[in-house]
Amino acid sequence: MSSTNRVVTPESLLRQEVLDLQAYPVPESAGMVKLDAMENPYLLPQSLREEIARLVADAAINRYPDADAQQLKACIRAVIGLPQNVDILLGNGSDEIIQLLALAVAKPGATLLSVEPSFMMYKMIATFTGLQYVGVPLTENFSLDLPAILAAMQHHRPALVFLSHPNNPTGNLFDAEAIAQIIDAAPGLVVVDEAYYAFANASLIPMLTRHPNLLVMRTFSKLGMAGLRLGFLVGSKAWIAQLEKLRLPYNVNILTQLVAEKLLQHHDLLLRQAEQIKQDRTWLYERLAVIADVQPYVSDANFILFRVIHADKIFKELKKRGVLIKNSSSSHPLLLDCLRVTVGTPQENEQFIRALQESIHQVV
Ligand SMILES: *Cc1c(COP(=O)(O)O)cnc(C)c1O
Repeated sequence: MSSTNRVVTPESLLRQEVLDLQAYPVPESAGMVKLDAMENPYLLPQSLREEIARLVADAAINRYPDADAQQLKACIRAVIGLPQNVDILLGNGSDEIIQLLALAVAKPGATLLSVEPSFMMYKMIATFTGLQYVGVPLTENFSLDLPAILAAMQHHRPALVFLSHPNNPTGNLFDAEAIAQIIDAAPGLVVVDEAYYAFANASLIPMLTRHPNLLVMRTFSKLGMAGLRLGFLVGSKAWIAQLEKLRLPYNVNILTQLVAEKLLQHHDLLLRQAEQIKQDRTWLYERLAVIADVQPYVSDANFILFRVIHADKIFKELKKRGVLIKNSSSSHPLLLDCLRVTVGTPQENEQFIRALQESIHQVV
């Protein structure tokens, strides 16, 4: 009797690690120049948008989608040029795939290892799936500290190693030889997260056949489909077949399947947009490099990390001027006074540079 009228609170019911988490932060951005989330700033040509409208109008949304998304996988295979002996697992964004991998290995005491600073979801997902998390600091110039990583792997025996390549939020690629040594020494799986492959000239997909404990993950979010939520994992048939058991049925909805197939038939268009973004990245880097008190870092992604004095104040001043970027300053000691800006359209980039110059003038 007495127990029935006791109020159940989140604090009394939920796991402590969930109570301790901070929700993934998504700031309000209405009306702002939005350069905080690595989105592709370009819309699609009108004719393609009309084709998409027809596809959506004719979609059988009363039915469940193709559970295996066979046509979509065939499109991905054609576009990426995958080796025959690897398979594809699709996710509702690649975030979902990180979670699926974590759940798959979550035996008591299992460990996920990554480097820091890197993509914050590795740690967050490890935490709420009950994995131990180990973050090995990068060196001062954001490269892999190979001896430290090898030692940490020896000590913690991680089931999963995640490497973002290029790395978010630092923008750099890692040394390929160091990655190969990590794959060879790892006691478990190494997942190389190629979210920014379209802006870099490097991929580990050719290494898949020789390294059975390697998986490569990609997303279409940074290539102009962030709103569709589609990521994928490639690896040996044996691994993918097991991981498929954890994929929730119909995780990729029918509209995403149809629209992504259509867009992949126009992959060249998306790649041209990525080329444009790479050129504008160079412009942006050169502009940042000549501003006193600003130190940009070379990037192989569609964003640039830069150090500036009084980053917190500069971030606020930029916001006052209608420009939203990302404040990374308090996220890791190596990122003290660092801000991260996504490459936008040439016009947005100019607005950002102007607002940054004014902000520095205001603050310094
Ligand atoms: C953006 C990003 C992702 C997540 O992408 P979604 O497919 O949109 O979930 C994964 N990894 C890294 C490194 C990212 O920057």
